[in-house]
Amino acid sequence: MHLYEMPFRRCDGHGCGGFGDSRGARKHNGVDLACRPGTPVNSPVSGRVTKLGYPYGDDLSFRYVEISTNGYRYRVFYVEPTVAEGDEVSRDSFIGQSQSLNGRYSDITEHVHFEVMNPAGEIVDPTPIIFAQQR
Ligand SMILES: [Zn+2]
Repeated sequence: MHLYEMPFRRCDGHGCGGFGDSRGARKHNGVDLACRPGTPVNSPVSGRVTKLGYPYGDDLSFRYVEISTNGYRYRVFYVEPTVAEGDEVSRDSFIGQSQSLNGRYSDITEHVHFEVMNPAGEIVDPTPIIFAQQR
């Protein structure tokens, strides 16, 4: 499933899913897109897999996939990867399956988290990318 086909996560007891929404002292640096755990997730862009990372240092069962192109880095969190670092992917490619967050945050809306960094390494709002792909 493409990220743009998933509904935006609305607010729940753990917060709201929009870019810049409050996370206590911090702000949410991506957008959350609701999907059932186990959903096959498409790459948000065509590019190269540059990292398979770990969102949480204290629980290495959670993963993220980073795809890079044109100096931009696109990260999709809470995805069990089915790709390897160095793979070329297109938007037709599946990069993995969405993971369940309920073991970590009870009653949270199940979702993947999408964040984007520009070539300067700054976080940018990915919301316009999602809307552009919905057209
Ligand atoms: Zn998020």
